[in-house]
Amino acid sequence: TLMGVPYQSLIQKCIEMGMLVSINQRLDKDVIEILASDHDMEIQFIEDTGEEEAEVIDDSDNLTKRPPVVTIMGHVDHGKTTLLDYLRQSSVAESEVGGITQHIGAYQVKYNDENITFLDTPGHEAFTAMRARGAQITDIVVLVVAADDRVMPQTIEAIDHARAAGTPIIVAVNKVDKPAADPERIYKQLADNNVLVEKWSGKVQSTEISAKLGQGIDDLLAEILVAAEVLELQANPAKRSWGVVIESRLDRGLGAVATILVQNGTLRIGDPVVVGNSYGKVRSLYNERTEKVLEAGPSTPVQVVGFSGVPQAGDRVIGYESEKEAKETSLKRQRQIREVSARKIKTLTLEQASLRMKEADLKELPLLLKGDVHGSIEVLSDALMKLSSEEVKVNIILKGVGGITESDVLLAAASEAIIIGFHVHPNVQARELARRENVEIRLYRIIHEVVDEIHSSLEGLLAPTIEEQTTGSLEVRQTFKVSRMGTIAGSYVVSGKITRKNKVRLIRDSIEIWSGNLSSLKRFKDDAREVAAGFECGLLFDGFRDVRVGDIVEAYEIVEIQRKLENPDE
Ligand code: GDP
Repeated sequence: TLMGVPYQSLIQKCIEMGMLVSINQRLDKDVIEILASDHDMEIQFIEDTGEEEAEVIDDSDNLTKRPPVVTIMGHVDHGKTTLLDYLRQSSVAESEVGGITQHIGAYQVKYNDENITFLDTPGHEAFTAMRARGAQITDIVVLVVAADDRVMPQTIEAIDHARAAGTPIIVAVNKVDKPAADPERIYKQLADNNVLVEKWSGKVQSTEISAKLGQGIDDLLAEILVAAEVLELQANPAKRSWGVVIESRLDRGLGAVATILVQNGTLRIGDPVVVGNSYGKVRSLYNERTEKVLEAGPSTPVQVVGFSGVPQAGDRVIGYESEKEAKETSLKRQRQIREVSARKIKTLTLEQASLRMKEADLKELPLLLKGDVHGSIEVLSDALMKLSSEEVKVNIILKGVGGITESDVLLAAASEAIIIGFHVHPNVQARELARRENVEIRLYRIIHEVVDEIHSSLEGLLAPTIEEQTTGSLEVRQTFKVSRMGTIAGSYVVSGKITRKNKVRLIRDSIEIWSGNLSSLKRFKDDAREVAAGFECGLLFDGFRDVRVGDIVEAYEIVEIQRKLENPDE
C-alpha cells in the first residue's frame, strides 16, 4: 500500500526469485530491499531503540561457550513432535530432581555433560516469524524426514528456511523401525534438493533414528554437539541480559508469564527489563520444570514473571542496570512505535465497492458498524437495512459499541466488508492492520451522510464526495490551564502536520469526543501557521476545555473528491 504497487506484482517478483510467498508472509530485510529497489524506492529500516547498545561487541576475555539452540523442522507427520517428546522425557530422566518438564516453548537436554536447548515449537512459522522480527535464535536446524515417506514440500520449505537463515542442517531420518523404511531413497531425494549428506560424500551430517523407540537419539545429540563445536558458539554471561520471547501466556495466579530465551548475558531476579516496548522488573524465574531459579545464563530458556502486559513471541528482552534506563528505553520505543503506525490510512471512497459490485455482479454489500452509543448504531443499522432492494442487499455482519479494534479489521478483511465508524475511531493497531489488509474504514459523524453514501454506492451512482483528509496526528503530552483562555494542549506532532486553518478532532480511547476549529496554534510563545511532524506545539480549541494528556488530536481538511467519469461503452 505504501509503495502504491499491487501486491500481485510483488508476489510475482518473489516467484521469479524462486520464493513462493503468500500475501501475508513476512519478508526479510534483503528481499524487502530488492523489491523496493525494483520500484526505484528506498527503504529506511528503523532500529528499535536499545538494540544497538545491547549488541555491542564483547571483549573476548569474558566469552564462554554457550549451549546450541536447536529447532526441529520437517514435513507434517514425519515425527517432529514425537522426537521433541522423546527428548523431553529423556531430559526428565537426566534431571536429578525428576520434575516433569512442562511445555514452555523450549527446554534443555543434557548429553555428555553438555546442554542443548531445544525450541519446542515445531513448524516453520515460528522460525520465520522470529526471523522476520530480527530474532535469529536458532543455531542448528534438525530436519526430520520419515524414512518410509519421501522428501515432501515442507521438507523443502524447511531446507529453504534454514538456508535463508544461514543455519546449518542436521538430517534426522526418522521411523527407521518401520518395515517400509528406506533411508537411501531419502538421501537420494535430499541430494536432488542440494542437501548432500556425509554418507553421500557431502557435508551435511545425518543420523538414522526412531523417535518412537528412542533409537539413534544419542547419535543425533552427539552430532548436534559436533555441529555446535564447529560453530564456536559463545556468549558473555557477565554482561547485561539480552534475549527474546519464545512464548507467553496469562496465568491466573501469576499474571503475565513469558518464556524468554536468554541469548547473552545473565537474567536475574530483580533485573529491570524492557520487553517489546514495555517496562518490567523480573519478579521470579522458573525453569521448564517449574522450579524457581535465581538466574538464567546464555541459551537458557526461562519463565519470567513480572511484565506488566503479555509480551508477544519474538519480542526483544533487554536487561538494564537501572530502572530509570529501562523506563527511558521503553518510553522511547513506545513513541517510536506510535510514530511508525500513526500513518494515514487510506479511507477509500465507496466507489471501489460499488464498482466491484457491478463487475462481479455482487448482490451484497457487507458492512461492519461500530458506534459510540448503542442507540445510534441501532438507528443507523435500521436506516441502512432499509436501503436493501431486490437486487442488492446491505448485510451488516457486525454492529457494536466502542472503538474499531484489530479484531474488527480482521473480521472485515475475512468477509471483504467495509467498516463504518460512527463517532468512533480505529486504534493505532487496527489502523495499521487495516492498511496492511486493505480494509476500508470510513468514519462519519452524521447519520444521513452514511445513509446517503451507502445508498449512492448501492445505486452505483456515486456523486462527488466530500471527504475529510487527515493531514496530521498529534498527541497531547501536557496541559496548561490559562484562566482567561481555557486549556492549552501541549502536543507533539506524531505524523503529518497541523496548520492553523485545520479542523481538528479529539480522540480519547478510540472515541471521538469533540471536533471543531482551533482558536490558536503556537510554537513556544509565537503564533505558528504550521507545525510539522517531530515538533511540539500548543493548541487551543475553539470552545472545548476538557483536553487531557494522552488524547490524540487529528488535524484534517475537507476536500472534494471528483468522481472519475466512466465511459458507458466500456
Ligand atoms: P509431526 O507432525 O512431524 O510432529 O509428527 P508426529 O510426531 O506427530 O508423528 C506422526 C506419526 O508418526 C505419529 O503417529 C507417530 O507416532 C509416528 N512416528 C513418529 N516417529 C516415529 C518412529 O520413529 N517410528 C514409528 N514407527 N512411528 C513414528
